[in-house]
Amino acid sequence: MDHANFRKYAHQFVDWMADYLEDIEKFPVRSRVAPGEILNQLPETAPATAESMDQIFSDFQRIVLPGITHWQHPSFFAYFPANSSPPSVLAEMLTATLGAQCMLWQTSPAAAEMEERMMQWLAQMCQLPAEWHGVIQDTASTATLCAILTAREKFSQYRINRDGFSIEDRFVVYASQQTHSSIEKAVKIAGLGSENIRQIAVDRDFALRPEILEQQIRDDIRHGFQPLCVVATIGTTGSTAIDPVEAIAAICGAHNVWLHVDAAFAGSAAILPEKRPLFAGVEAADSYVFNPHKWLFTNFDCTAYYVKDKNALLRTFEILPEYLKTSEESPVNNYRDWGIPLGRRFRALKLWFVIRSYGLDGLQQKIRSHIQLAQQFKQWIDAAADFQRLAPVPLNTICFRFRPHSLADREQLDALNAGLLETLNASGKIYLTHTRLNDCYALRMVIGQTSVQDSHVNQAWRLIQETAKSLL
Ligand SMILES: *Cc1c(COP(=O)(O)O)cnc(C)c1O
Repeated sequence: MDHANFRKYAHQFVDWMADYLEDIEKFPVRSRVAPGEILNQLPETAPATAESMDQIFSDFQRIVLPGITHWQHPSFFAYFPANSSPPSVLAEMLTATLGAQCMLWQTSPAAAEMEERMMQWLAQMCQLPAEWHGVIQDTASTATLCAILTAREKFSQYRINRDGFSIEDRFVVYASQQTHSSIEKAVKIAGLGSENIRQIAVDRDFALRPEILEQQIRDDIRHGFQPLCVVATIGTTGSTAIDPVEAIAAICGAHNVWLHVDAAFAGSAAILPEKRPLFAGVEAADSYVFNPHKWLFTNFDCTAYYVKDKNALLRTFEILPEYLKTSEESPVNNYRDWGIPLGRRFRALKLWFVIRSYGLDGLQQKIRSHIQLAQQFKQWIDAAADFQRLAPVPLNTICFRFRPHSLADREQLDALNAGLLETLNASGKIYLTHTRLNDCYALRMVIGQTSVQDSHVNQAWRLIQETAKSLL
């Protein structure tokens, strides 16, 4: 493709992009294709000769779009959002065009230095400790794996990286019963063994019970285990429960255990002064993660990972170990040494665009409005005689179920609510997902899409009520 054609199609695509975002509500939120339907439309072999961009683009619209679930649709209330925004999309276009590989400072100084500055901006915006060191990772799963590997290396004096495990190593990791599956994955990959995760019981608000954590750590020490790391969650995936980080940090401090705080979704709310109390105690953490790619209007992927002890992180991941180096500490960051992959995208650019384009007050307004809409929805659920709320709503996730008076049997209620969810999602008008809380099937509504307005939440509530009644 020559430059003239690139220009022509780029203009055409930008028009399509603007139309798509303008008309997004015309699409069904959740894709309606059947399994295999897209695969069968893609030729089994790669084309031997060039095809025209017109043909390729027309196939994108014909084949790909029907197989897309529209995450940027304002009535997307499923999972946690992967919200984007126009300034973020514009920055991604530039990033793709530059096509820079940002593993070292040299391979694009602007990428390394902007990453350093953006991580400082985010820390200030969230009132995180100024002495923490930040790095952008692809996902919270990767950041949590980095935390557990770094804890493993620091506590073994960097021995396991060199010699492998010894028979004496009996590390244990602690997290609540509501913790994200990425913790178990990280423990497995780090070679610690998923049998060595202690799932700590939660209270009636689904938050970790610190007295049980303390007891478990004492028991483990008595039995010859080495408590390695506690993962506390601010905003669990099920119901955005808030673990008591301050109490957990005190226990970690007393027993010299690494504290990793997973605020993957809720972390964006720390930019609101009135929500900052939910984060009390995080300054005592050894590592902290949150995802601007969930609730800060920045395209996936963009995870903010902070550590207190930068040297421990670098010693874990550097191929040339820190202790073999002779020069003074480098004034620049080579981020390949701050995590797992060597190659890295220029992800800081989209953060720079988003933060400048909205301003801190613009970002605060948006997140505040999402929380207000969710609190409104919570009141509707509480006021409705045949609906039941199943968890507190500290932010913008509401867990509830339909519970008509005529029905008390748990299994029937589960089936009724699973049917309700499927009917709602099949309508194409809204998309919700579910979770289980106290062994009850719960519908889970997250209000955090970039363009969601009260009209969308009103429509969702009407639809949920009507659909629920129609199922009886
Ligand atoms: C979404 C989520 C994760 C995983 O995030 P990825 O960036 O997709 O790896 C981890 N923990 C919590 C609490 C989450 O909500």
